[in-house]
Amino acid sequence: MTNMIKVLKGTKDILPQDIEMWHFVEENAQNIFSSYGFKEIRTPIIETTDLFSRGVGDTTDIVNKEMYTFEKSDRSITLRPENTAGVVRSYIENGMHRLSAPVKLWYKGPMFRYERPQAGRQRQFNQIGVEMFGIDKPAADAEIILTAVNFLKSIGLNNLEVEINSIGCPKCRTEYKEKLKNIIKPYLNELCEDCQARYEKNPLRLLDCKVSECQNIYAKKEIQEVILSDFLCKDCCEHYSELKNFLNKLNIKYSENKLLVRGLDYYTRTVFEIKSNNLGSQNAVCGGGRYDGLVEQLGGEHTPAIGFAMGMERLISLLPQQETKKLDAFIVSNSSLDAFLLAEELRKKGISVEIDLANKKFTKQLEKASKIAKFALILGEDEILNEKVSIKNLFTGEQISVDKKNCYNYLGS
Ligand SMILES: [Zn+2]
Ligand SMILES: [Zn+2]
Repeated sequence: MTNMIKVLKGTKDILPQDIEMWHFVEENAQNIFSSYGFKEIRTPIIETTDLFSRGVGDTTDIVNKEMYTFEKSDRSITLRPENTAGVVRSYIENGMHRLSAPVKLWYKGPMFRYERPQAGRQRQFNQIGVEMFGIDKPAADAEIILTAVNFLKSIGLNNLEVEINSIGCPKCRTEYKEKLKNIIKPYLNELCEDCQARYEKNPLRLLDCKVSECQNIYAKKEIQEVILSDFLCKDCCEHYSELKNFLNKLNIKYSENKLLVRGLDYYTRTVFEIKSNNLGSQNAVCGGGRYDGLVEQLGGEHTPAIGFAMGMERLISLLPQQETKKLDAFIVSNSSLDAFLLAEELRKKGISVEIDLANKKFTKQLEKASKIAKFALILGEDEILNEKVSIKNLFTGEQISVDKKNCYNYLGS
């Protein structure tokens, strides 16, 4: 026997017994997102590498360490590590700025990051998300957060905690970044390697370093004072308080978290994260924010934009297992032809049905029916002769005999 080929490290099959959960989440996304006017967009899985170094940021771990990049005909190509950059590229390339604002798009699909695989983290993973273009008003921020919350509720995630923050605009943030760098400077040598690199290129990102030595330094009183200081300009401040006003009026419970940041200059104002307490422990299930500078960064006209993304695997891991859906009917018969003809009639009526293709004995067929279907339709010699069908309800065991031509009437669940 030759060696068995296994699935690549960090990737997974989604098997038939799990697919119902995926359909459930995807259908809810489709319903909730459409109810807010979002339309689905599907962008390619491969894009030019430049799109991500410019659109995700060449100081981020994603771009520096985690991309699947390869050369083909002298072109550098990358498997998308996220979908915002691709959606923005498509928005610009297809002239969607000419449509009346807001342009509301949603997506779902696989993303790729070369990370050390660990619980809940895969190298091929699935995200679902939305992007809204063309509106800089806080009402857009509120609607985006509301869309995320209602989607999460629709799939049964309760005890949601919304955390928000405003990271200002490039104008007011510059001074804040300088203050932060000055107060951290004396400790520069004690910081981890990543933080030392971030210090110059991406100082806001210092604050979410997971290394405990760095955390201890950032917890110092004089550093905390700078972190917690108010630096927003008048416009940013107004935007933020109007958003909070909306959330209050819409009864969305939230807390403010000054440590919630995005490192790059095209991120502006609102950032948010949603956590769920399902299954006991607290899990971040959604991250989002405003990126008013990104469309321009990727070569489009200045266009305000905001969106969020969620990891599908994480969402599904928080939901109770669903039972595999059963077929409506299984036809038990020794006459393949009669079974075939009846099955085709029923499928035209929208009924899901299978027949025995293996010439099994009657009792074996019945056994199979009771495992996979709600009803067994029995076509024995007598039934065929009299144009009848015996319908056995496989939950209750009840059996009735009905006319073959309208037997579909009896197959309601
Ligand atoms: Zn500002
Ligand atoms: Zn660090």
